[in-house]
Amino acid sequence: MVTGRKQLSLVKESDLQLMAVTQYNKFLTENKVLSSGNNKDAAMVDRVGARIANSITKYYASHGKGLVLEGYKWEFNTVDSKEVNAWCMPGGKVVVYTGLLPITQNETALAIVMGHEIAHSIAKHGNERMSQAMVQQMGGMALEVALAQKPKETQDLFLLSYGIGSQVGAMLPWSRQQESEADKFGLIFAAMAGYNPQEAISFWQRMSTASVENPPEFLSTHPSDETRIRKLKQYMPEALKYYTPRN
Ligand SMILES: [Zn+2]
Repeated sequence: MVTGRKQLSLVKESDLQLMAVTQYNKFLTENKVLSSGNNKDAAMVDRVGARIANSITKYYASHGKGLVLEGYKWEFNTVDSKEVNAWCMPGGKVVVYTGLLPITQNETALAIVMGHEIAHSIAKHGNERMSQAMVQQMGGMALEVALAQKPKETQDLFLLSYGIGSQVGAMLPWSRQQESEADKFGLIFAAMAGYNPQEAISFWQRMSTASVENPPEFLSTHPSDETRIRKLKQYMPEALKYYTPRN
């Protein structure tokens, strides 16, 4: 519905959303969550998240595509961690790590990253990866059977599928096609929320510089290359059509 291409989907999105609620809450109890009441970074993450969520909800509803966001119950959290990372679980469960913020440097670049992560979720890229993993590693077992018989392995596959890893070696890169889709829709989502999509170019340049000295976790899941910036420039005119600056 979003990507316009055929996607492998053996797992129901609603089942993944249920699983996400459990995994999200587990993650939050195991990590140091910052409160948006007294932390300005967490408040910024909340603000950006709410703006993107509201804009795309309005957009899809007004275009008769409300089903794209079926079951979404948005949550935005910021965790205190040196890791350069951010992700969105099914159903709109988002986490931003503070280690990302020295590279985003400003609210607009944060919107670019959050738009990108939300786009992975809405384009059901995690579902594609989870479906592939269920075939390859669980012999095509149904999700609820796998969860009952091999809970630990199934949870690990889920976390891997959504770019949430605790070990660098265990991270699974998004495919080039998924990355391009997330870049394109991420730009549009940020633009709809009133953030200038052109910031994406500087952001990915900063990310690329940061990765020369110390490759961030984020880039082990999101492959970075020169063609990314070239493609972002190609998507820019379309994204700019959705952009109205905030005052
Ligand atoms: Zn990505």
